[in-house]
Amino acid sequence: MNTIADNIRQIKALLPEGVTLVAVSKFHPAEAVRQAYDAGQRIFGESRAQELKAKQQLLPDDIEWHFIGSLQSNKVRDIIPFVHTIHSIDSLKLLQEVHLQAAKHGRIVNVLPEIHLAREETKHGFTPEECKALLQGFNPADYPFIRIVGLMCLASDTEDMAEVQREFHCLHTLFVECKQAYFQKDDSFRELSMGMSHDYLPAVREGSTMVRIGTGIFGNRK
Ligand SMILES: *Cc1c(COP(=O)(O)O)cnc(C)c1O
Repeated sequence: MNTIADNIRQIKALLPEGVTLVAVSKFHPAEAVRQAYDAGQRIFGESRAQELKAKQQLLPDDIEWHFIGSLQSNKVRDIIPFVHTIHSIDSLKLLQEVHLQAAKHGRIVNVLPEIHLAREETKHGFTPEECKALLQGFNPADYPFIRIVGLMCLASDTEDMAEVQREFHCLHTLFVECKQAYFQKDDSFRELSMGMSHDYLPAVREGSTMVRIGTGIFGNRK
């Protein structure tokens, strides 16, 4: 059986230079994170505030913690003291709360608006139009404690890889439009967070710069 270290090595061998691997450790114990850490992995993704907080306390300080799940405003303060990047900003209210809490801690937190492209109604996020309206109205000078570093999406949960690829292509197109319209002189807007265990290769082909992989590294979640 492959170890966590083997899985990380194999995935990294398939990722082009410059694509960041976020190891999604949700529902896996701190011990599994430790094994990945010992294999050199430093960036981990979690989807629940309590679980992230508990693991952060047990694990080394040089881990870069990313939050990738849906986040309630009242949970922001639990993770803001240490979270590096929040991939799943799905409302202006949440963006404002992240800024408020980050300001209290004097930290700058990276954020990515989550874009809803999938067919499923259950998925979160801004439509492309809503995203453009958000960025149009966003004045970085009003938000010195957050940095919008890119866009994130989850593709439809389907076997239809052509559909998945189409959605990734749409996110890439939206990213390029937003970059030109709102971030032309801002180098920090440069990430496309897309691709999970089953669809990271098509995501990378469509320009992903951050893949979020759980099962492919840690095995099935209980
Ligand atoms: C769980 C999760 C992942 C990882 O999914 P795998 O299929 O286990 O790779 C990636 N992104 C988000 C937003 C998730 O919630």
